Amino acid sequence: MTRRQVMTGILAGGAVAAGAQAAAPAFTLPKLPYAFDALEPYIDARTMEIHHDKHHQAYVDNLNKAIAAHAEWAKYPVEELLGKFSQLPEGLKTAVRNQGGGHANHSLFWQVLGKPTGKAPQGRLARDIDRSFGGLPQFQSKLKAAAMGVFGSGWAWLNIDSENRLLVEASANQDSPWMMQRKSVLGIDVWEHAYYLKYQNRRAEYLDAILHVLDWAAISHRYEQMGK
Ligand code: MN
Repeated sequence: MTRRQVMTGILAGGAVAAGAQAAAPAFTLPKLPYAFDALEPYIDARTMEIHHDKHHQAYVDNLNKAIAAHAEWAKYPVEELLGKFSQLPEGLKTAVRNQGGGHANHSLFWQVLGKPTGKAPQGRLARDIDRSFGGLPQFQSKLKAAAMGVFGSGWAWLNIDSENRLLVEASANQDSPWMMQRKSVLGIDVWEHAYYLKYQNRRAEYLDAILHVLDWAAISHRYEQMGK
């Protein structure tokens, strides 16, 4: 029993019942690994605050509500739940696809962004981007085209397929690379909530801006760990 469960039990005067109610949620919002204003002037602090504290929190909360009725699935990390999508009970699928996808996609998104440094991809990732796309500028224009091509809300990705090839892909809504049996190197959120306060309908300007705050040092490091 955790300290929190014990304390709730004392307050409620019934450790067992209250302890059950106070069980830690299966999924939690990851802390943003930098300040809300770290991506200024490209991505404004207010957008980051609402995006992380409100939008991402809502995906986490809604996923926790849905998983409560399917406790046997609560032990899996969200990426693994998405990977097992076809095995999920019908009553859980929509929540995992939309809320679980939202949780997994945003958890990756925060990790691939960071203070603008002007650095380029490094090491093995630099080499593989050159081999796969012909160079960084060619990759960037392909990623931007995929993001511009999303009708309505969705994501653009740099993914690794089952044959270890790097691919630029797009997905609708919160459909997630893990659901498509991909590993993802990076994702760009192209929902309007990611840019509307500063860029309104100008998605192309937002995409140019976000290319400045991709943290290539962090992305390159993660790529090395992915065991491609
Ligand atoms: Mn978003």
